[in-house]
Amino acid sequence: MASLSNFDDCKGLLQSQELYEYVLETAVYPREPEVLKELRAITANHPKSLMATAPDAGQQIALLLKMINAKKTIEIGVFTGYSLLLTALTIPQDGKITAIDMNKDTYEMGLPVIKKAAVEHKINFIQSLALTVLDELLENHENRGSFDFAFVDADKVNYQKYHERLWQLLKVGGIIVYDNTLWFGTVAMPEESTKEELKPGRLHTIEFNRFLAADNRFQISQVPLGDGITICRRL
Ligand code: SAH
Ligand code: CA
Repeated sequence: MASLSNFDDCKGLLQSQELYEYVLETAVYPREPEVLKELRAITANHPKSLMATAPDAGQQIALLLKMINAKKTIEIGVFTGYSLLLTALTIPQDGKITAIDMNKDTYEMGLPVIKKAAVEHKINFIQSLALTVLDELLENHENRGSFDFAFVDADKVNYQKYHERLWQLLKVGGIIVYDNTLWFGTVAMPEESTKEELKPGRLHTIEFNRFLAADNRFQISQVPLGDGITICRRL
């Protein structure tokens, strides 16, 4: 897993590498903005580059942002900023992203590209544990029911806690996208055939997926793009 330098070397969840490449080459790369390609290239040098959002999942996120005309968004888990830059490029000039990561160094790796794309003014980067920031946002009642969109891509163990807070921050009709909800396909594998380093995430993901399926505050769709994303629309 760690040896994969980027998604070109990985078939995602599809049946074959050829099929995944077909999707990327046909539908995704020809439309991927130059700055996102640049950010992907910079990120490829990072030992944890596989954490970056898959470009096919990114394309879906951009489509959702446009469909709901999202202006005010939250990003939990920035890393080098692929999904952040994608969001910043997609929302309007006066849109705002509250972007949270406990690590600022990786954000700064991608920052020159964000500046070059002239979208830094849409980003409020906060270096912190995500839960702390969400609780602070909730303290100000004006924030409740005010966000159009959230992308969650940080520590899987806290997804359910993020969900409870995001539910309150989101508008009715607003969307949360959770990343990695199929966890390298391990959710459907027996525990004993799962790689050791994937086992904890597998259990958290299985539990979270079960929880979401029963949460009638949201309309949901599990999409097998990238490493699996779940789209949740607040009812
Ligand atoms: N969306 C990013 C990938 C995020 S990777 C992209 O498209 O590239 C996950 C990120 O979550 C890492 O940068 C990590 O520092 C951050 N993270 C993990 N746990 C966190 C927490 N509890 N609070 C805030 N950030 C966290
Ligand atoms: Ca991810």
